[in-house]
Amino acid sequence: MKDFAVVGSGIGGSSIAALLSAKGYDVILFEKEPYLGGCSSSFSRGGYSYNTGATTFAGYEEGHIVKEIFELIDFKPDLIRTDPSIVVIQNEKTTLRYRDFDQFFEILHSNYPHAKNRAFWEMVYKINQEFYTFSGHYYANANIFSKTRSLLSFVPLFSKFKKYLLADAKSFIEDFFGIIDKEYFGFLESQVLIVAQAPLREINFFTAALSLAYTFNENYYVKGGFSTLFDGITKRVGEVHRKSEVRSIVRHSEYFELHLKDEVFKAKKVILNSTVYESGKLFSDSKIKDYYKKYEKLDNHQSSFMLYMTIKSERDFHHHYQIIQENQFPHTISKAVFVSFSDKEESRFAPKGYYSITASVHTDSRYWEDKESYKAKKRELEDILKALILEKLGIEKDEVVQSFGATSKTFDRYIKRAQLGGNAMTFKNFLPFLPGNDTPIKNLYNVGDTVFAAQGWPGVMLGVKNLQRLLGA
Ligand SMILES: Cc1cc2nc3c(=O)[nH]c(=O)nc-3n(C[C@H](O)[C@H](O)[C@H](O)COP(=O)(O)OP(=O)(O)OC[C@H]3O[C@@H](n4cnc5c(N)ncnc54)[C@H](O)[C@@H]3O)c2cc1C
Repeated sequence: MKDFAVVGSGIGGSSIAALLSAKGYDVILFEKEPYLGGCSSSFSRGGYSYNTGATTFAGYEEGHIVKEIFELIDFKPDLIRTDPSIVVIQNEKTTLRYRDFDQFFEILHSNYPHAKNRAFWEMVYKINQEFYTFSGHYYANANIFSKTRSLLSFVPLFSKFKKYLLADAKSFIEDFFGIIDKEYFGFLESQVLIVAQAPLREINFFTAALSLAYTFNENYYVKGGFSTLFDGITKRVGEVHRKSEVRSIVRHSEYFELHLKDEVFKAKKVILNSTVYESGKLFSDSKIKDYYKKYEKLDNHQSSFMLYMTIKSERDFHHHYQIIQENQFPHTISKAVFVSFSDKEESRFAPKGYYSITASVHTDSRYWEDKESYKAKKRELEDILKALILEKLGIEKDEVVQSFGATSKTFDRYIKRAQLGGNAMTFKNFLPFLPGNDTPIKNLYNVGDTVFAAQGWPGVMLGVKNLQRLLGA
């Protein structure tokens, strides 16, 4: 009998499995796919490698959560600092988002002049700096008493940032600037969407400020592709079972039985890294089903359309671009595409003289459900994105060696989730409505981007730390 069974090897599952193993627990980790990492993994096709979804490694600096957890599990990743973190291309304007405030601000202000610019960006910068000085808050959700007690731990944070937490980001920005032109507003909205995964009208200004400020933190390119992180993280986990989908889980009074295709495993405690919308399907126990059912309404169907490309080129490219256009792309919910390149100098991920490109645009998973129109829509969007990327970044058609797209359906087929980008912290989905890392069911826990705290490396890792605390491990 294992102490812990972890279902899913995304950021959340792999990291908590590693932390618990480092504390001496007997842990077994199951992953449906042959590769670890879920949305933040990498894969190969036609002899070339690609990052699946995540391409920016954030939160790895002194005082930040990802570094803290990596140190606890004694893993040092192989990274290259990215600065500027993103190059934003909107019409004729190119904005390099450098980490240094003055260097960034000079470019921003010449592209989008506004009398209130300095005051706005200094406020954003300050909110970000001050946020990282707060610690000690945690979120428990097992029962009303533990939840209330945990919410009290947010009081210092709430008091400090009250005026930003209570204001919706769209109105706050419009009020702050007075008059702001459509293009500049579009720039801000597209930048926020990358991190917050929600439009400005749905989030508070505090979340928007942290999202706008992420380029002031350290951001990294991962050498060898994102899957190398998971190989490193899980190195000391007792048992890692790849190609092992957990099909159902049966609860007994003191343990759980995990049923795979041909095997059954027993564990005292179970941690689910499946999404909170899908986890209920693993159980026939009505109490557990009901618990997960109440969170199904939080599924905002937000998802990603991906374009993967390999190009052969001797030119220099930045690691990340965001291309913003006037109108929404068809079959998407966005005007912006995020395009990431492998590093020219490292040949572990893409051969010398080649670049691996992962491009993503926000979509709605329901747009991809109709079988009849699926192929035509996919081809149309692939062609549009490819043409735009080639044009804006000066890539010749014959430099493209391979390209293919992926939709919410593709993600669902491989990693069992069509909703991507996590459970954004919106007004509708704010603490205390957010699903937690603990549950009212004894010894059953959740981790990942659809439960506390949020999406991305820093967001999921905050949940990992929270879970470690709740487990007393
Ligand atoms: C296009 C895109 C771009 C992104 N870019 C960034 C970025 O640049 N930087 C960043 O920090 N974040 C980024 N994110 C967000 C980040 O990738 C996710 O928030 C994060 O990877 C989610 O981690 P998770 O722990 O929720 O696990 P998931 O990624 O959801 O992985 C869960 C794993 O569990 C497995 N699983 C599920 N059910 C079972 C089962 N029954 N049995 C066995 N295994 C199972 C799945 O196969 C999967 O591997 C991006 C996301 C997307 C989609």
